[in-house]
Amino acid sequence: MAAGSDADHVVDATDTDAVDDVADVDADAEPEPESALETARRQLHHAADRLDIDPNIVERLAHPKAVHEVTVPVERDDGSVEVFTGYRAQHDSVRGPYKGGLRYHPEVTRDECVGLGMWMTWKCAVMDLPFGGAKGGVAVNPKDLSEAETERLTRRFAGEIRDEIGPTIDIPAPDMGTDPQTMAWLMDAYSMQEGETVPGVVTGKPPVIGGSKGRAEAPGRSVAIIAREAIDYYGKPIDETSVAIQGYGSVGANAARLLDDWGANVVAVSDVNGAVYDVNGLDTHAIPAHEEEPEAVMDHAAPETLTNDELLELDVDVLIPAALGNVLTAENAGRVSADMVVEGANGPTTSAADRILADRDVPVIPDILANAGGVTVSYFEWLQDINRRSWSLERVRGELEDEMLEAWNAVRSEHESRGVTWRDAAYVVALSRVAEAHDARGLWP
Ligand code: NAD
Repeated sequence: MAAGSDADHVVDATDTDAVDDVADVDADAEPEPESALETARRQLHHAADRLDIDPNIVERLAHPKAVHEVTVPVERDDGSVEVFTGYRAQHDSVRGPYKGGLRYHPEVTRDECVGLGMWMTWKCAVMDLPFGGAKGGVAVNPKDLSEAETERLTRRFAGEIRDEIGPTIDIPAPDMGTDPQTMAWLMDAYSMQEGETVPGVVTGKPPVIGGSKGRAEAPGRSVAIIAREAIDYYGKPIDETSVAIQGYGSVGANAARLLDDWGANVVAVSDVNGAVYDVNGLDTHAIPAHEEEPEAVMDHAAPETLTNDELLELDVDVLIPAALGNVLTAENAGRVSADMVVEGANGPTTSAADRILADRDVPVIPDILANAGGVTVSYFEWLQDINRRSWSLERVRGELEDEMLEAWNAVRSEHESRGVTWRDAAYVVALSRVAEAHDARGLWP
């Protein structure tokens, strides 16, 4: 996973028509895992049911504004030409230009882009950023491409979607299989065609060409900030709080180290191979994060090792799934022993697990709030690009803290006044902002 991405997890694509009715399906009959589009539509209808919103606006929001599908021919290093399919799904732009990641992954599909684009609309709205949601990518396994082939693919894809993107139209960012270098090529290809340097066309760039300081650490930092606020909300002193974190990458390691620095007892962390566990607390700075040394968590000496499944069921105060989607399911949600879940990854909790945890009074602080630091610092990057003025790391961190607290307070207020789950409260905040903007602007013509 690229550091500094507006990333989401890969889920299976599903037939569009089949998911239109999904909001009404009985919980026990739901297949797991769900597709991104199924989940996004379900959550839209679920939140809309809690609000007095014009059904016509909800109907508009169940569909993307546009999905661009392009053919991307690439010359391989051996001289042959291979043709890939690329997408850019633009969900809603009532609050500002579209914003969201571009992923290179074999399972990229139209519907996945639509579903993940919808999530970006809510994530931007819950953070009150002046952006709408989008997602895109190319159906390709990036591991099969040389660096030169990846560059040619990126430049050609940029050419194909050139008319659909731009700093005031749609601003891509890294996601699965793409990284700051990909964004640099995309920005260069776009700029060459425009005849001027346009840094604001993408975010998550290397800082030397207009990327923001603090972008890569931002999703993990926001997870830590929201976890800290939630711990405080439930009346637990942070230095008496135990934390278990699945995934020790950009999100997991940054969140772990900050919570550790703030006094929490991080007792377990994992990578794809398993977890290390010390009831007295791990030295999180001594355990290599994914980008420092991939998959090396288990090399760290610790009193005990666990499987990832065992980590998810540890009796801790806070569980932070920060690796991949659909890890808390109907099968294991009943055995989650943490007092609270803070979602670091995108979509780690299936809808069925969400209901089980709600019935068991285990608060789940949702991804669209907790890991939104990434897109928030992307917004800061865009502001810096437009103003041609870079911010210090201290300023980025300070403004991120302010934005996260504002979003936390908005969601907390809905959670308290409506007596709904944290996820429902976040969706209510997001959907009401988007719906009010639609209402104010009206339907053209
Ligand atoms: P990363 O690639 O930096 O790290 C992923 C970590 O998860 C690694 O430690 C890896 O070993 C571990 N992992 C992979 N498969 C696993 C498995 N089956 N079981 C347990 N651990 C496993 O990724 P990241 O950027 O930290 O992203 C993690 C999650 O956060 C993803 O869901 C991503 O979509 C989401 N996210 C990332 C960002 C971002 O900007 N990086 C922003 C928002 C959300």
